[in-house]
Amino acid sequence: MAVIVQKYGGTSVESIEKIKKIAEQIAKRKKSGNDIVVVVSAMGKTTDNLVRMAYDITIDPHKRELDVLMATGEQVSMSLLSIALNSLGIEAVSYAGHQLGIKTEGSHTKSRITDINDEKIHKDHRNGKVVIVAGFQGVNEDNEITTLGRGGSDTTAVALAAKLQAQCEIYTDVDGIYTIDPRLYPRARKLDFISYDEMLEMASSGAGVMHPRSIELAEKYKVPVLLALNTGDIPGSLIKEIDNTMENPAITGLAVNNDQAIITLNGIPHDIRVIADIFQSIANKDINIDMISQTFPVNRLVSISFTLPKADLYHALKVLDTFKDKIFTFSYDAFEDITKLSVVGLGMNTQSGVAAKVFNLLADNDIPVSIVTTSEIKISYIINPNDQRKAIEAIAKEFDL
Ligand code: ADP
Ligand code: ASP
Ligand code: MG
Repeated sequence: MAVIVQKYGGTSVESIEKIKKIAEQIAKRKKSGNDIVVVVSAMGKTTDNLVRMAYDITIDPHKRELDVLMATGEQVSMSLLSIALNSLGIEAVSYAGHQLGIKTEGSHTKSRITDINDEKIHKDHRNGKVVIVAGFQGVNEDNEITTLGRGGSDTTAVALAAKLQAQCEIYTDVDGIYTIDPRLYPRARKLDFISYDEMLEMASSGAGVMHPRSIELAEKYKVPVLLALNTGDIPGSLIKEIDNTMENPAITGLAVNNDQAIITLNGIPHDIRVIADIFQSIANKDINIDMISQTFPVNRLVSISFTLPKADLYHALKVLDTFKDKIFTFSYDAFEDITKLSVVGLGMNTQSGVAAKVFNLLADNDIPVSIVTTSEIKISYIINPNDQRKAIEAIAKEFDL
């Protein structure tokens, strides 16, 4: 029997009514002869509320305890969905990450799935049960509860689909992947297909519709991922392998990220060892920095600006404080008021002049840019948040997004 992994996000399970409705959809699918695994997120804004409570206590909550706390959210929705299915006469069983052997590695709040023990799932399927799994969580080698980073339930679903060689369906509050987040640009176009590479760049650049790590896994294990509206009755978008030797539009999508901060380091000796030391100390805290730009040395000193998630700013600054004693010329500035725009497209591989075109558009609209970085299929620009709307409109119009 074909195995299907479905994932329902927070808004899809935000109320008892919605959970009952989803249970009915799953029951129908089950009756049509499929073995089903359902991954759920926490109800509505539950995770935000849990995190807020921890930060109401302290600016620096213990990461292990944050994981224990956040993991409770998914356990509520998984059991309620199981209760709803059982009440419809469909046998179902729910499991937290550790109960299913969802093994992870890495730091608390940012762990990565390394393996899943699928024995229980196969046994439950043989017994005709629907298996419901708490998304976003696992257990590490010390038997501690871990979480996969915000939005990580998508990754649980793709990892399960990869392990079970199953179809993967992500159900959410939007009916597909759009060229631009429709909440930011309602005229955006829905894409029937998008390549793994483009979706990965979009997701890592702030298009919160999919967790970036889920796309990495989907690409690695060749799992096509369908993203669709949680009613299940509108065709969604398929994330899959796309031949990049074909003619592709220069820009497929635009991602907007308002969750980044920028740090500028001043008065750093122009010595690669010192610079490496600073970045290594930040990396040791498992902080993922993104765009980097360095000035030309003046009096043997350079300035370096880099972006990082706002959520990591506090810990990064704590690390940088330790360098103030070691380098007497050193100081830093941090800003949280930035917007990162990223244009993404496989066509950039073969078409030149995209960066120049976007620069011209920004110039024509009086939008200053502070940092730019490029990869083969992505160009990112840091702008002032006040210019975001204007920039999206101009880029969308020019590239028909
Ligand atoms: P879930 O809770 O189901 O995981 P998310 O809020 O994580 O849902 O993701 C769905 C949201 O992603 C949509 O409501 C939409 O605003 C946002 N989004 C961001 N970028 C895009 C995009 N390119 N296409 C579609 N939705 C997007
Ligand atoms: N509940 C978690 C979050 O809000 C995981 C998820 O929704 O995917 O980040
Ligand atoms: Mg999500």
